[in-house]
Amino acid sequence: MEPVIFESTNGQSPAVDLCAALLKGQAPDRGLYLPKTFPRLSTAQIADFARLPYAEIAFQVLAPYCHGIVDPESLRALCADAYNFEVPLEPVFDRVRVMRLDRGPTASFKDFAARMMARWIGRFLRESGRTLTILTATSGDTGSAVASAFHGVEGIRVLVLFPIGEVSARQRKQMTTLRDNIRSIALAGKFDDCQALVKQAFADPALSRIPLSSANSINIGRLLPQSVYYFHAAARLAKPGEPLVIAVPSGNFGDMMGAVIAGRMGLPIHRLVVPVNGNNEFPTFLATGDYHKIEPSRNCLSNAMNVGHPSNLARLAALYGGHLDETGAVRRAPDMAALRRDLFSSSVSDEQTRATLREAWEKYHLLLEPHGAVGWRGFLDYLQTEPLHDKPAVVLETAHPAKFPDEIERLLGFTPEVPPSLAALDRLPEDFDRLPVDYGAFRDYLLAKYS
Ligand SMILES: *Cc1c(COP(=O)(O)O)cnc(C)c1O
Repeated sequence: MEPVIFESTNGQSPAVDLCAALLKGQAPDRGLYLPKTFPRLSTAQIADFARLPYAEIAFQVLAPYCHGIVDPESLRALCADAYNFEVPLEPVFDRVRVMRLDRGPTASFKDFAARMMARWIGRFLRESGRTLTILTATSGDTGSAVASAFHGVEGIRVLVLFPIGEVSARQRKQMTTLRDNIRSIALAGKFDDCQALVKQAFADPALSRIPLSSANSINIGRLLPQSVYYFHAAARLAKPGEPLVIAVPSGNFGDMMGAVIAGRMGLPIHRLVVPVNGNNEFPTFLATGDYHKIEPSRNCLSNAMNVGHPSNLARLAALYGGHLDETGAVRRAPDMAALRRDLFSSSVSDEQTRATLREAWEKYHLLLEPHGAVGWRGFLDYLQTEPLHDKPAVVLETAHPAKFPDEIERLLGFTPEVPPSLAALDRLPEDFDRLPVDYGAFRDYLLAKYS
């Protein structure tokens, strides 16, 4: 077997293996890494996943990318250690199920990627004796998943930037109560400001003596593990080779890229439904072919999806023959007809999100939180354009309802049961720093704390 190599979407950096792609995060030409070719799984292998535990599916899907880098027995052990929780597929109606990706330690789907990435990076660092500082911008859930996944991993320090006014108290505590090798900064700005500061730091020669890496969804190490649960769902819902509909509430488009990658690896997808909140740059792009980032991004209820310029669109464009650079300029148009055939996207307002959350509960006893409600509503929008005709469908719920107790109490009249991992937070003291949106101040902070 040939090892999978990774190329930059900007086409100006040398190809690298998984280890280098993981440790670098972003390619030197400011593009994003993508596999040059995708390993293919056979219909029989995918069908066989129906009887396998999640950790074993993860092992089989990820093994081709790790070939020659992590030996199979170690990879199998890393997967078993990372995926020690349930991935329920809750029946709703007909062959439609909601996949709950909220059973990890920080109760959002971001645990799936962060836990695998932490284990990969921890292993690579141990082998090379290096240390690394991970800088990550978060709109709420990435920071906590990354902080939890890397907490206590030797050789790694994590710095999380979060927008002070855009994360819930519980999300904030998940980042600010860990300490040890984890630090966090409350930025007096928006998620996009956090992301911009992090990107600028990566490109800054004055910081070259601090070995930095990113754990944002720009890191390919985030996307590969996010392809696994689509195989898990399909094997359990669809007949061998039968295409299914997948709906993914989207912000930075890392989760949906996991589905696109699964598709390239051989998973039959009838349609990928990618609803967004009021940050509607993607459905507009799909409809018109014109891409305009939204600056500043709009504040919506589904706060982890408040992204006005999703980094991963560069990857999506590249896989459809186009070139979108890091500034959001379309250098070469992707195949719009193919994109429209494969994808459906709608924008869901906060008012619709609330109404959907209430209706799903009243009609199906389906308990959602705002992100999952955007996903569910977008799925219903899609059904208006094309009936399922008994096709299987999976809609993702990306966070635990207990992360949004106030909203759910207001809408449904009860408080969702809190999982033990979240309940413990309320008793822990917080510790974080504050900074204005100012790159100079951020650089000084990095130099003072990490060089
Ligand atoms: C991050 C996040 C999303 C959006 O995922 P992307 O990969 O950024 O599209 C959706 N829901 C929740 C709960 C999240 O934390």
